Amino acid sequence: MVDMGDRSPSYRCGNCQTPIAFRSDLLSKNYVAKSGGAFMFSHAVNIIAGEKQHRELITGSYTVTGIYCSNCGQELGWKYLKAYQDRQKFKEGKFIIEKTKLLKEY
Ligand SMILES: [Zn+2]
Repeated sequence: MVDMGDRSPSYRCGNCQTPIAFRSDLLSKNYVAKSGGAFMFSHAVNIIAGEKQHRELITGSYTVTGIYCSNCGQELGWKYLKAYQDRQKFKEGKFIIEKTKLLKEY
């Protein structure tokens, strides 16, 4: 497990409370996932990646991988591996995590 040190507040897995992301790595709160709102992070910790998938979304086509909590296995969201439209390239390497899967620590 990665120690979050004193860089808090942070976001934890809503299921097992493993630290998942730093607030300082939060890029946007304006994403939408199946379950509702989602956050974009530049970095995430204590996660494992699933299989690569190709997704056609309203904004373009992407290669993504599902991301899961490394401790309990809960699906948290996805990571963009490749974006095929130039204006979406900034998403490459970024993490989208569903709000309902996270516990925010104040
Ligand atoms: Zn977990």
